[in-house]
Amino acid sequence: MTATAVTRGGTPWTPQYVEAIDPKVCIGCGRCYKVCPRDVLTLEDRGDDEVDDDWDDEDAKAMMVVKNAMDCIGCGACGRTCPKDCFSFVTA
Ligand code: SF4
Ligand code: SF4
Repeated sequence: MTATAVTRGGTPWTPQYVEAIDPKVCIGCGRCYKVCPRDVLTLEDRGDDEVDDDWDDEDAKAMMVVKNAMDCIGCGACGRTCPKDCFSFVTA
């Protein structure tokens, strides 16, 4: 069964819950973190293991990860603000 919510006006909508963030694409810009209303995301330093030989973006020393997936309300704001299209979503 797919969870369906309603707007205040009664229009149905289907929440899209965050599933994953692509670590190979994320530039650690923090946009998604700023818009998330539920503290689902957190910025992590990239360890040396994460920086492979073909990684050439010197600015991307950190990446966003999903910290509290079960707190996500499926608003989709993180995905809409991401400049690199890192997010994948699932319905419940
Ligand atoms: S879908 Fe909404 S609540 Fe869930 S992680 Fe993205 S911004 Fe946060
Ligand atoms: S908005 Fe996208 S690129 Fe920026 S930190 Fe979030 S996932 Fe990474």
